[in-house]
Amino acid sequence: MNSRVLRLISGVGAKGPACFLLETRGKRLLLDLGEGPPTGKFPDVDGLPPVDAVVLSHSHKDHIGGLTLLPKLGHPPVYATEPVARALPRDIGTRLLPIGGATDVLGMPVETGRNGHAPGGVWLHFVGGGGFLYTGDICAESSLYAYDPPARAAVTALIDCSYGDYQNSLEHCWRELAQFLGGGPLLLPVPANGRGPEIALELLRHGIDDIHVDDAMRGALQHLGGSDQISLQAGLRDEIEGLTHIAKPIDGPRGIMLAASADGASGATAKLLAQFESKPAVTILFTGYVNPDTPADRLTKSGRAKTMRWNVHPRLSDTIGLVRGVGARTVIPAFCDRARLPALAQALAPAHVTMDGPIEI
Ligand SMILES: [Zn+2]
Repeated sequence: MNSRVLRLISGVGAKGPACFLLETRGKRLLLDLGEGPPTGKFPDVDGLPPVDAVVLSHSHKDHIGGLTLLPKLGHPPVYATEPVARALPRDIGTRLLPIGGATDVLGMPVETGRNGHAPGGVWLHFVGGGGFLYTGDICAESSLYAYDPPARAAVTALIDCSYGDYQNSLEHCWRELAQFLGGGPLLLPVPANGRGPEIALELLRHGIDDIHVDDAMRGALQHLGGSDQISLQAGLRDEIEGLTHIAKPIDGPRGIMLAASADGASGATAKLLAQFESKPAVTILFTGYVNPDTPADRLTKSGRAKTMRWNVHPRLSDTIGLVRGVGARTVIPAFCDRARLPALAQALAPAHVTMDGPIEI
């Protein structure tokens, strides 16, 4: 009864919603249940038997947007940290995970640590057997969010490889962003519970204080200065409070404007893009994955908007460090295209790197 099997429902072999099934000791745990990209794409759970619990890594849509499928799965309880639980619909029954430390899920020992990627975001280490690590999304470079490197041995690791074998640093990202500053109003569509506050903080640290934010960004900053401080690197409270104080509302095309959503499909950004699209003096810059069939996709394809990457996932060197740190012998790279498999397999050798399940762990 010690055998454990990992089934890759969605999120491996191509960018897509996160959803993995861990079958262990007669229990079935779903790790994340996302929607998209692209928007409207859900994991295929039709063939799955009822699951005993869903465990969430963080609150981004590609990890939680599929919770609308819970009725098909027998309405299992959902395990999440407090900031993630706060982002869920109220009718979902949640059980709290710690943001760092030991706990258990349905009697299985689990350890969590901060993922350096989003408020309340955690990686999950299932302690039994040789150890199994699921990172969700992680970032080792954030200047805002704290990252606790997983260190306990894990024979099998399902890890965030969103950037494949890309290696540019966050320093490089800043130099790229800096080229867009000082040339008139700049709109940055961002996720408020992700890189938005981090970019705002970097702007302030570089002496740029003409910063304007929408309500979602302001709410995220206020949470980071309050109950979400636990997800921050140490000693940032004063800087976050200063940023919250300095940031002004967006009341026209001026300064550096940070607003959600990141793809322009909803939130303040949708309205701002409609206002600013025809104003060439306003630069529009997307800094994340361009979700197909969204305003971000349309505006970058037409040349009206620019795009660059602001690192919120591991570089290849971070991935190599992680795999060696936990001593993983089998690695499943998640959230990247299958075309990246040969490069990852070479870089992560002697670990066995695979995108094909099911996997006995
Ligand atoms: Zn994420």
